[in-house]
Amino acid sequence: MQRKKYNISKKQLQQLYVTEKKTMQEIADLIGCCKGTICNYLHNYNIVSRIGHPPKGIKMPTWKVIPKAELYDFYVSQELTMQEISEQYNCCRSQVFKLLKKYKIVTRTRAERNEKYLRNLSLSSGGTGIPYENTEYGAEFDSALKEKIRFKDKYKCKICGCTQVENSRQLDIHHIDYDKKNNSLMNLIALCISCHMKTNYNRKYWRQYFYSTY
Ligand SMILES: [Zn+2]
Repeated sequence: MQRKKYNISKKQLQQLYVTEKKTMQEIADLIGCCKGTICNYLHNYNIVSRIGHPPKGIKMPTWKVIPKAELYDFYVSQELTMQEISEQYNCCRSQVFKLLKKYKIVTRTRAERNEKYLRNLSLSSGGTGIPYENTEYGAEFDSALKEKIRFKDKYKCKICGCTQVENSRQLDIHHIDYDKKNNSLMNLIALCISCHMKTNYNRKYWRQYFYSTY
């Protein structure tokens, strides 16, 4: 696909960004392109972007430099992506990247980003958030089978007895013997999210617990 070209001259961009102090997003909306395009134009035209280096004589505009503690909290503690942080501050991803470098906050590697992706994938498909978890399941472990197990267990968690409504999402399906390929009905039970988390630890105990209960 051919990339669409937007025509915005250096003069125009200076007028909008420097003189009128519009944000990249506002300019992007005016032109009908995305913020990243404006960010690239600013770089190409050598217009100093406002994050980190406000041009002399220009008052601080709407965005502010992200304080180190704040950035650390977002990026390290909350594990937001650079893109997510940039959206909160109305700046672009590369600026967040530069700021992380400046503050000497170690950025995540591609492998770590991939791990985070897989963790979210696991959570969103009813797993416990362990990366790679859901890639190991057999093909027969699908939503129809999961629903069958929930029905068998009367839509209640087999440990604490809470209902699917109380769980505020569909109940997870747990493999009693921890073998994700063993999808026989005897090996599967419905659990709420917090009980399912518990079964990640003390596996021997939980295996015994379920074997003696059923
Ligand atoms: Zn439970």
